[in-house]
Amino acid sequence: MGLVVQKFGGSSVGDVQKIKNVARRILDEYKKGNSMVVIVSAMGKTTDDLIKLAKEINPNPPAREMDALMATGEKVSAAMMAMAIAAEGIGAVSLTGQQAGVFTETVHNKARILEIDPERIEKELARSRVVIVAGFQGINEYGDITTIGRGGSDTSAVAIAAALKADYCEIFTDVDGVYTADPFEVKGARKLSEISYEEMLELASLGAGVLHPRAVEVAQFHNVVIHVRSSFNNNQGTFVKEANKMERKKAVTGVAHDKDVAKITIYAMPDKPGTAGKLFSKLGEAKINVDVIVQSSHQQQNTNDITFTVPRGDLDQALKITEALSKEVGAGGVNSDAKVSKVSIVGVGMISTPGVAAKMFATLGSAGVNIDLISTSEIKVSCVVAEKDVDKAVQAVHDAFELEKE
Ligand code: ASP
Ligand code: MG
Repeated sequence: MGLVVQKFGGSSVGDVQKIKNVARRILDEYKKGNSMVVIVSAMGKTTDDLIKLAKEINPNPPAREMDALMATGEKVSAAMMAMAIAAEGIGAVSLTGQQAGVFTETVHNKARILEIDPERIEKELARSRVVIVAGFQGINEYGDITTIGRGGSDTSAVAIAAALKADYCEIFTDVDGVYTADPFEVKGARKLSEISYEEMLELASLGAGVLHPRAVEVAQFHNVVIHVRSSFNNNQGTFVKEANKMERKKAVTGVAHDKDVAKITIYAMPDKPGTAGKLFSKLGEAKINVDVIVQSSHQQQNTNDITFTVPRGDLDQALKITEALSKEVGAGGVNSDAKVSKVSIVGVGMISTPGVAAKMFATLGSAGVNIDLISTSEIKVSCVVAEKDVDKAVQAVHDAFELEKE
């Protein structure tokens, strides 16, 4: 017997039948004697549809009204879920973010959760009701509805689990868990039984879209164990938890790849303090997210080349900014390549294992893949390669580190 927090995403509550199935699943746990708090997302693509609708009325809808509109998606699925549970003869109550005591920052559309007052939820649990909470929303200091960013109901669930000191937080989705690589593209990709918060954060931001990065941050901060699992079967999924509570055997946990990468090089920049700062400030002001940055110096000429990567959608704008700066500081010129990709290995075990990067580079070399740029952190090595080589590169690295084996 315990307190279980579960979250079901849009694909798990996409239609009436799915909602009924999920309701039964919740009741299986309830009937074991557990107190149940369930966070739901909007049904299927509801949030996208609401955004489209808003833009038809007003291409620049006020942010406050967008939140008022978008929050309805989750309210619908929460009410429907409570009805489905009531239909099975069990008491259930749906709560909006506000009713559930979710307080957020003042900003609209991407407010962070500041605090959760669990009083109402606890009161309902004490009456043995199943509590269904609309995810993705809260209330700000002015009493206005806020939303917490696309994909945010993962974060709602983890924050509520932390506030209630739940035993764990189960996130149900349309995949079985977190894999060593993309199971649709990489032969031998294996479901991980556990992964650390740090690794999950790297993998989440590298595009393994199973968990919202912010949810992982909140879980790490409050030490909430997350169980990512499928809503369509009963298989055990992946536990996301503290690294030192894991049984670690390998240096590398997973391989991720990202094809949404373009690179820009600015040549022969005068080697003076402040030039790099100027370039990246301008890119930052334009809200362009720069990822890998490599500088190489030419000692004799007193110049530097800087190469960096950006998402492909930002390439044109980033190029304009870089070209303007090149003229301004008297650099040698700019060029770009929109057809590159990034391959990364991630693992907390790397910290204590020498030679991991060397093995990755050698593997790519033997596969005939040329490495363009390299960047590393304590638990990650990333290589930028030509897009045409990326699938081959991921498979070769996955094989070399024997990630298909337990
Ligand atoms: N419904 C919201 C979205 O589509 C929140 C979520 O799904 O977590 O972004
Ligand atoms: Mg979603």
